Amino acid sequence: MKILFASAEAYPLAKVGGLGDVAGSLPKALRSLGHDVRMVLPRYGMIRDAKDDGGPFAVQAGGSALEARLKTTNLSGLPVYLIDRPDLFDRPKIYEYEDDGKRFGFFCRAVLDCLPAADFWPDVIHLNDWHSAMVAVFLRTLYGGDERYRRIKTVLTIHNLQHQGLFGRDLFDWLGLPAEAWNLEAVEFYGHLNFMKAGIVYADFVNTVSPTYAKEIQTEEYGCRLDGLLRARSAKLTGILNGIDYDVWNPAKDPIIAQKYSKSTVDKKAANKAALQKETGLPVRADVPVLGMVSRVTEQKGFDILIPALPELLREGVQTILLGAGERKFEAPLAELAASHPGFVAYLKYDEAFAHRIYAGSDFFLMPSKFEPCGLGQMISLRYGTLPIARITGGLTDTVRDLTADPAGGNGFAFGEYATADRTTQTSRPTDVRFMV
Ligand code: ADP
Repeated sequence: MKILFASAEAYPLAKVGGLGDVAGSLPKALRSLGHDVRMVLPRYGMIRDAKDDGGPFAVQAGGSALEARLKTTNLSGLPVYLIDRPDLFDRPKIYEYEDDGKRFGFFCRAVLDCLPAADFWPDVIHLNDWHSAMVAVFLRTLYGGDERYRRIKTVLTIHNLQHQGLFGRDLFDWLGLPAEAWNLEAVEFYGHLNFMKAGIVYADFVNTVSPTYAKEIQTEEYGCRLDGLLRARSAKLTGILNGIDYDVWNPAKDPIIAQKYSKSTVDKKAANKAALQKETGLPVRADVPVLGMVSRVTEQKGFDILIPALPELLREGVQTILLGAGERKFEAPLAELAASHPGFVAYLKYDEAFAHRIYAGSDFFLMPSKFEPCGLGQMISLRYGTLPIARITGGLTDTVRDLTADPAGGNGFAFGEYATADRTTQTSRPTDVRFMV
C-alpha cells in the first residue's frame, strides 16, 4: 500500500511532544511491514538539511496560486517531502504563532497540491491531529473532479482532542473552501472553523491513540465538545495503542546514558542513578528514591495537583527531578519550589538528551495526568526499568497496572482520584512499602 503520512512534527526533524515520537516511529514500522510510506512536513527553520529537488509548485490559497517549493530529506531511509514556504514556516518554533491557522491550512492544501510535483499518488493519506486534518476536507470538497485524488482515502489520528484548531470565518474564505462547507454538519463549530471537527467529519476513518481514550472522547467529560459528533461517528472510530521506537529508547544501546544496561543486567542501572544525582547536584545516595518527570508543563500533565503535593512528598526524603517546559503559571511556582527545596530540581526547558538520562537514572517516573490520550513517558520509563507512578486515565489505564493491587502482574503504581492527597485510599494504604535497593 502507498501511504503518505502528514504531520506537523516528526522526531528527529521536529518534535514538541508525543506526536513527534509517533510520527518518527510509526511510518518506519509500517515501512518494515512492506508498505511504501512517505512523509510530508512543513520545512521549519530547524530543518536545514533539505535537498531542493522537487521544484516549485502552486498552492491554491488566499484567492490565488501561492508558490511553494517541494524539498526532500529522509528519516531513517524514509522519503520525506518538505513544504517550503519561508514566510510561513522558516521560523524557530513549530507552533504558537498568531497565524497558525493560515500556516497549517496552507500546509493542508500544499499536501494535496504537491502530489503532482512529487509524482506520488498514495492510496491513503494518514492525517495527524488538527494541523493536517483539513486535508480530508479539501480532498472531498475541492479535488473530487480528478480521478487521481478521488481514489485516495484518509485516516485521521486524534493524538489530543484538546487542541482542535479554532479559527475565524476569514480563514475559511482564505482557504477557498466552498460556501456549503460552512455548516454545523461540516466544518463550522459555534461560529468558528474547527480543523479537528472538519477532519472527523470528512476523513474516511478516525482513530485515536489508545482504546480507553477512544471511549473517553465519546463522553462529555473528555469529549471537548466534540463527544456528540464522535458518538454519531462511532462506527468509523477506533483506538489503537501507540508504541515507542525501541531503537531510540533502548537502555542496552543508548549512547546518551552513563551506563548501558538491559533486563538481565538491571543492577547496572544504579550507575545511571548516581550519574544523574551528580549531574543535578543532588546528594549521590543509592538509598534515596529518585522520582523523575519529563513532560510538557501544562494543566493536562497534572501540575495543579503535583505542585501542592510536592512539599509533602519532599518531606518524605525523596529526590525529584523535573525536565519540562510550558505554561508560566506552573513554571513560576515550580521554580520557586526548586529554589526553596534542595531535594527538588527543575529544568524548565526542552532537552532530548537529558530526557534519556532521567528515564535511565530515576527509580520512579511521575505522570499524574489530568487526561492522557496515550502517553509515551510511562512506556519509555518502563523500557528503562523505571516504575511509573501514574493517574489512571486514557492510555495510562491501558498501560500501567498497579503493583499494590496486583503484585504479580503490576508494572508501576496507579491512582485514580485527581486530587493532591489520595483521600480514598489514605487510610488503607499500606505503610510498610519500603524502597528497595
Ligand atoms: P505529550 O505528547 O502529551 O506531550 P507523551 O507522554 O505522549 O506526552 O510524549 C511526550 C514526549 O515528549 C516523550 O518523548 C517525552 O520524553 C518528550 N518530552 C516532553 N517534554 C520534554 C522536554 N522538556 N525535554 C525533552 N523531551 C521532552
